[in-house]
Amino acid sequence: MADIFDLTVIGSGPGGYVAAIRAAQLGMKVAVVEKWPTFGGTCLNIGCIPSKALLHASELYEEAGHQFRQFGIDVSPRLNLPQMLQHKDDTVTANVSGIEFLFKKNKITAFRGTGSVVNAGRVLVTPESGPGIAIETKNIIIASGSVPASLPGIAVDEQKVVTSTGALKFKEVPKRLLVIGGGIIGLELGSVWGRLGSKITVVEFLPAILPGLDSEAARQTQRNLQKQGMEFRLSTKVTGIEKRSDGVLNVRLEPAQGGEPVFVEADAVLVAVGRKPFTDGLGLENAGVALDERGRIRTDHQFKTNVPGIYAIGDVIAGAMLAHKAMDEGHAVAEVIAGQKPHVNYANIPSVMYTSPEVAWIGKSEDELKAAGIEYKAGKFPFTANGRAKAMLATSGYVKILADVATDRVLGAQIIAKSAGEMIHEIAVLMEFSGSAEDLGRTTHAHPTLSEAVKEAALMCGDGAIHI
Ligand code: FAD
Ligand code: NAD
Repeated sequence: MADIFDLTVIGSGPGGYVAAIRAAQLGMKVAVVEKWPTFGGTCLNIGCIPSKALLHASELYEEAGHQFRQFGIDVSPRLNLPQMLQHKDDTVTANVSGIEFLFKKNKITAFRGTGSVVNAGRVLVTPESGPGIAIETKNIIIASGSVPASLPGIAVDEQKVVTSTGALKFKEVPKRLLVIGGGIIGLELGSVWGRLGSKITVVEFLPAILPGLDSEAARQTQRNLQKQGMEFRLSTKVTGIEKRSDGVLNVRLEPAQGGEPVFVEADAVLVAVGRKPFTDGLGLENAGVALDERGRIRTDHQFKTNVPGIYAIGDVIAGAMLAHKAMDEGHAVAEVIAGQKPHVNYANIPSVMYTSPEVAWIGKSEDELKAAGIEYKAGKFPFTANGRAKAMLATSGYVKILADVATDRVLGAQIIAKSAGEMIHEIAVLMEFSGSAEDLGRTTHAHPTLSEAVKEAALMCGDGAIHI
């Protein structure tokens, strides 16, 4: 008789692989089904990891060309794009094989192929070739992730008109790259190619970039990126792309609310207008698993779908499409299945955009606090007044802390800084413990560090900072 698994996870992205490992730690017999040749999902193969490898390498190239001189280092860098892409590919390989190692270490059985749900106790694996395999299982977690959203009338070929996947492997630097969507993918990958020499034009449907980010931080970020040569066309939509015989793309733009079109030439176009949940081939209709109005699998606060024994996590359910959100849900759902009572605090999930400088935020923005009628105080400390930032020539940006007027409890924060993505976590821990701005301001921060700006911003919610 075939093995009966306690848990079968469909999809090995950050949601699925964390759920599988946590379940194995809790003593379950676990299977994972993955249709791609390597584990790790979007994040490790075509998302977070390769994009950060290129962001890091291209930032060094930019600094070598434009900033090293000020530090007394005279160099004339020459781009070796094949090697930069090789670095990205090596980084991906190291990470995806790390997941394979962790699966073996935790005695998780991996099945290669497309997983579909036959019913609550059975998953069918259909490999690329060969017969299907039926898995008997007590529980199922669907962690099938998301795919890029498309635009009507715009055909992606992943060569010249690309999603993020194609934009991670351009063989040469496009002279003019038009980016549709001023969200995180557009600005991160626009930064990569801009630093390597592309002229970047970002077309954004809304009147501002980065919807959801504190509007002051979004405006400041736009100014920073403009200084780096990015051009923005806000309140504008792309309504067509014509490929000319000379290979140039003629892109048709219109005001968001309609009006006279204008045409812009580009050598490549990146479509980065969001991602949509991926449920194709899962057989959810047969199993009776319900979706919501946006095609996401409907779950309750314990990740249970409407079918007992079937759970879902990550990009395929509601909430931010972030790897660490998927990971925390993976951790929690395994504990739910084991009978524990875990909790994911959705009010306290940091976001980071890895541009230069980085932008990190958590909790409420000023706009949200105003809209909710919450009385707050804001402490905003600029890096121009931070000693370490001056030494690093990294004075662009600020830390803003938002605290409740009556209780001093920290409600949110935004950081624009070289290492904002690292610095945000002390505020995350503080907020997890419902800490106050005074708690943060009275905590000793090592000198000289960029993190001292966090302490100073917190002091500005009280009697005031010292260094400004
Ligand atoms: P995914 O990572 O999408 O994994 C789903 C997996 O399921 C895939 O491996 C897929 O092959 C598999 N699968 C699907 N259906 C089946 C099936 N029927 N059978 C078998 N296998 C199946 N987030 C961050 O937090 N930080 C970042 O810096 C960041 N950068 C990003 C950069 C880019 C360019 C992109 C595109 C995304 C980025 N993200 C980032 C978002 C992040 O990648 C996702 O939020 C995260 O990967 C979601 O994890 P998941 O486990 O839900 O799904
Ligand atoms: P997004 O939702 O962040 O941004 C999409 C942008 O495109 C929005 O500003 C939207 O207004 C705009 N847009 C939509 N339709 C448009 C149109 N027709 N014309 C012009 N603009 C249009 O989506 P994304 O940047 O594609 O990223 C997808 C997901 O991946 C996000 O959820 C993001 O959080 C995640 N991601 C995260 C990171 C990170 O955490 N560092 C990095 C990359 C991606």
